[in-house]
Amino acid sequence: MTAQWHPQANMSQVSGNELVFARGEGAYLFDEAGRKYFDAPASLWYCNVGHGRSEIAEAAATQLRTLESYSNFENLSTRPTLDLAERVTAMSPIGEAKIFFTSGGSDAIDTAAKLARRYWSALGCPAKTGIVSRDLAYHGLHAYGTSITGLDANREGLGPLVPDTYRVATNDSSDLDALLADKADTIAAFFCEPVMGTGGVIPPAPGYLERVQQLCAAHDVLFVADEVITGFGRTGKLFATELFGLDPDLIVIAKGITSGYLPLGGVIASRRVWEPFYAPGTDLVFRHGITYSGHATACAAAMANLDIIERENLVERVAELSPVLHELARGLDSHELVSEVRTGVGLLAGIQMRNPDIARRVAAICRDEGVLVRVITNGTLQLSPPFVAEAPELRHATEVIGQAISTVSSQVESVG
Ligand code: PLP
Repeated sequence: MTAQWHPQANMSQVSGNELVFARGEGAYLFDEAGRKYFDAPASLWYCNVGHGRSEIAEAAATQLRTLESYSNFENLSTRPTLDLAERVTAMSPIGEAKIFFTSGGSDAIDTAAKLARRYWSALGCPAKTGIVSRDLAYHGLHAYGTSITGLDANREGLGPLVPDTYRVATNDSSDLDALLADKADTIAAFFCEPVMGTGGVIPPAPGYLERVQQLCAAHDVLFVADEVITGFGRTGKLFATELFGLDPDLIVIAKGITSGYLPLGGVIASRRVWEPFYAPGTDLVFRHGITYSGHATACAAAMANLDIIERENLVERVAELSPVLHELARGLDSHELVSEVRTGVGLLAGIQMRNPDIARRVAAICRDEGVLVRVITNGTLQLSPPFVAEAPELRHATEVIGQAISTVSSQVESVG
């Protein structure tokens, strides 16, 4: 039995049955036996620049040899952290932004929720503590993320979680409208993934994001864009905020800032939110921080990752490659076992299978054929390849998926 207790795993099935990866190169992985796999989900939506980038390894090694990291609490910092903060706030669609660094997305969600509450109490509205999120939302699995997820399985068996959280319908603003009309005085923020990821790759309905943002503005509720997946190019723009013309008060980031080479996340704050904390002479302190907030080596890796994204024009590449992926994914729609194909925004596609068991069987065949596909909520196959994938590789991957669906179809027919 393996000592490693895997995340989101039934250990009775996983123990001793691991697929162990040994190395990666571009959009491919190699297991310990030397078998090659196309990485269709880019691991957990993050390996945007592709695997095996020695430039990032060198940048991290140089920083590790110089100074691995140091506390960023109070007035301490390290140069890569300050430089990355300047760079990300300059890139961010929020003008005059500041950034609070964390170790990953779930930390950043906790940070954003606490910051939203602290902001309102600083402004003399301590009753504004509620956090609203949406059905099928995924905001990581720390205590706040677990409390506000719209994926109920992630809350099962845990008992009471953070109070004052509310869930509204996805892609239907009338629910939020009704909630805010009734309770806005007690609500701090609305959290929203511009394109829902783990909930099944669900793009926003036309006009929906604009409408919920208007509602938040009208009711004095902070609008928080969770761009952990969409940030740093996944939608063909640097941020989905730009793509949809949004004006969030906070943007949550992680994954793509380092392409996963080292763990890092953050919350980008608008002037509205940071101003009271930066006001000359204020006593106000955001009493929050984690040991690896702004870790120097993670920040050095992020700088090298952003260099690659810029130098290789990878965001433009996503914009060019996305329609290719969308068309290939939509080609799978004709299979009877596929109930819906969700595409339309960025290098993302969700192939909704009839049920999770069918999705798992399809993914298992794909894996045997050298294509890694991840099964997410309700039996969706997640396609979110590295930005460096080539069109013929996407074609091959979708062909393998199509053949796997046909194989499962014939098995289902022969049983049924
Ligand atoms: N928010 C979104 C939209 C995510 O997809 C994720 C992770 O997949 C998170 C937050 C949590 O990030 P992490 O797993 O780095 O804690």
